[in-house]
Parts: sequence; C-alpha cells; structure tokens
Amino acid sequence: MTKRALVTGGSRGIGAACARALAAVGMDVSVNCAANGEKAAQVAQEIGGQAFVADVSDMTAVQEMFRRMGDIDVLVCNAGIAMQKLFTDTEPEDWRRIFSINVDGVYNTCFCAVPHMIRNHWGRIIVISSIWGRIGASCEVAYSASKAALIGFTQALSKELGPSGITVNCVAPGVIDTDMNSVLPDETLEELKASTALMRIGTPEDVANAVAFLASERASFITGQTLGVDGGFPC
Ligand code: NAP
Repeated sequence: MTKRALVTGGSRGIGAACARALAAVGMDVSVNCAANGEKAAQVAQEIGGQAFVADVSDMTAVQEMFRRMGDIDVLVCNAGIAMQKLFTDTEPEDWRRIFSINVDGVYNTCFCAVPHMIRNHWGRIIVISSIWGRIGASCEVAYSASKAALIGFTQALSKELGPSGITVNCVAPGVIDTDMNSVLPDETLEELKASTALMRIGTPEDVANAVAFLASERASFITGQTLGVDGGFPC
C-alpha cells in the first residue's frame, strides 16, 4: 500500500528536497509550510501531493492540518528557524520563539501523527536536528539548545514507540546550502567548508537522501539514532 508522508517546512530548502525524495520512492507526500503557501503548492504540484499552510508551533493549526490531511505513515519534522545572537542579546521572546517552533513544533506534529502509527503498527519519524545540537555553536545558544532537545526527544520516543513497530531517528545536518545560511558572509562559508573533511557545504539533497533511507524498509532495524550529514565536520 502507498505510504503517506508529511514533511513540515517543505516549501523550500531541505524540506522541499525531502518531499521530492520521498515522492520519488512512491510515497504520497503532503508538504507543510508557515507562510510561503505558493512555494509549498508548487512543490506539492510537482510531486502530486497536497500543500498545507500551518504554523507547527500552534497545536490548533497542526490538529486542523491533520483533520484535513488525514493520517500519515511517515513524518519528517523539518520545519525550523535559526537565530544568530549573542547569548546576552537573546531576549526571553527570542528564546521562546526558537523553542516554540523548533521543539514544540516537533511535539505538536508527533502528537497528532503517532496514534495512527500505533494503530497501524508501523511508522517512521525522522526529526531534523543539527550539527549545532551535537557540538553547540557560539552566538546560537538558543538554536543549539533547541536542536539538542530534539536528540533527547528522539532517543526517548524511539524507546516508547519501538514496541509499536515505529522507528524514530534524527538527522543532524552540517552546513547546507539553503536560505537559512544566506545571511552568512562568504568568508564564514569558506571557513565552514574548510572545517569539513569533504571541503564543501552540503546540498539539501544530501540530507534528503539520508531521510529517504531512514524512511525506507531498509532502515527497519535502526531507531533512536542521530545520523550526521555534515561532510565530516569536526566533532
Ligand atoms: P529554510 O530554507 O529556512 O526553510 C525553512 C522551512 O521551514 C520553510 O519551509 C519554512 O516555511 C518552514 N517553517 C519555518 N517556520 C515554520 C513554522 N512555524 N511552521 C511551519 N513551517 C515553518 O531552512 P532549511 O535550511 O531548509 O532548514 C530545514 C531544517 O533543517 C531546519 O529545522 C533547520 O534547523 C535544519 N538545519 C538546517 C541546516 C542548514 O545548514 N541549512 C543545518 C542543520 C539543520 P516558509 O517557507 O513558509 O517560511
């Protein structure tokens, strides 16, 4: 039977590549975004899926999206935002905004997706963390902490859902060429490239290939893991 998937933050960047990769292996993929409904609709049209505008930090909006979309078998929790600020400039509202999207957003979507997966005794959840969630980044304390939280979330949820035939894994990308990094000066990008064993930054497809693998039957004995897709960034 055709597997149904949802990719949050699928309008562009890593999420759009994940949506395309899952569609390419025959899944029926829904694409979510926060604001760029037209871009999400373009990706959805390209892959024969549906697009849903819903802020993942808003549980009511996420529940409404699931009501319209129906149940899914594969969930890619990719929606996220970054923030570069000194810790001393990180105001309480900055902290809450990062956590509400990057962490609450994952809780909200998993909360809505998991009951069907348990009933069906099959499911795949792939959470997009970050290299900074593993090793921390200066001037990105809130972002790094939010992405580290997702690693703990993944480990714990994988233990709880394993007996129900559901795998839960994290992918921790390194520096990937998307809008998120368009704020970085060329000099910083060159330094980041030089810090990787493979001497390059990644593409959204590099991450999507790992996500598609973890969503497949070939990954059925892998759960609770965090897979770095970072070109060999020093850890
Ligand atoms: P991006 O190009 O900035 O795209 C972000 C996506 O998330 C967009 O589709 C955006 O929707 C969506 N989004 C943002 N806030 C949302 C919300 N509240 N509700 C629903 N959707 C929301 O980002 P990216 O670089 O592809 O990153 C994707 C994920 O990978 C993020 O979780 C990020 O932290 C992680 N990551 C990225 C890198 C990197 O180097 N790029 C490295 C490590 C981890 P709209 O288009 O509507 O705004």
